[in-house]
Amino acid sequence: MPELPEVELVAASLQKLVSGRTISSAELRRERLAPDHAAESFRELLAGATIRVITRRGKHILFDLDNGRTLITHLRMSGRFMLLGPDREDPKYSHAVFYFGDESRLVFQDQRHFGFMRIVESPNLHDAKELKKLAPEPFGPEFTAAYLRRTLKSANRALKLVLLDQTKILGLGNIYASEAMFMAKANPKRRASSLTLKKIDALFETIRGVLAESIAHGSTLNVDPENIDGSYYGGGYESSWRVYDREGEPCIGCSARIKRVVQGGRSTYYCPVCQR
Ligand SMILES: [Zn+2]
Repeated sequence: MPELPEVELVAASLQKLVSGRTISSAELRRERLAPDHAAESFRELLAGATIRVITRRGKHILFDLDNGRTLITHLRMSGRFMLLGPDREDPKYSHAVFYFGDESRLVFQDQRHFGFMRIVESPNLHDAKELKKLAPEPFGPEFTAAYLRRTLKSANRALKLVLLDQTKILGLGNIYASEAMFMAKANPKRRASSLTLKKIDALFETIRGVLAESIAHGSTLNVDPENIDGSYYGGGYESSWRVYDREGEPCIGCSARIKRVVQGGRSTYYCPVCQR
């Protein structure tokens, strides 16, 4: 499952590759990808529209169109975009295809079938149910140390669970939550409301820090237009993880063994000595 920095990379790549292009036709091949639309209306809502800009809200990728509509997409487990020329065949699991006037096309391919698309009227975008409940963007003006203090001080669950709750804190998945807590020396099992203000302020810095570090890494990668997905972070980036996936290895701060616990069905990695 791509985390926020990977989705940021996909959105930025799409912006570079297909913004300004006009969708001459669109095909919804697997109706469950876009449960609110029949294939015919999917085509009608998109045909003739020019893609103005492609952005991200949480892990949703938003195609802002010049016909007053926005296409909301989510990659979920395995979705990817592929910009293909006329000489290339559609790959297996091509669930939606956007044709451009120059004979190229953007294919949404999804082996695991969890991807999602919906078209909304742009003025109502902020009311879309997928986006409405999301917490403020980690680099937006509403996400402040004061916001984080308020949010954690009023949360009675374990810190890790609150950090993963996208309606409270946006942008941390399982990897970056562990990394941010390690850098702030915050214990994942501690009740969120019991953190000191000093620790919360440290966490505010490390949440932005781990995300910024990872987004910066993504911006250095060359994305293959025929394979625009979130997997570019493999092949070496794991070696920069401080605690994630390092159970039993020595802590880089104190040499104690990194522990793994399961919280909310997912693994958390932490140093029991450094993180209090
Ligand atoms: Zn340690």
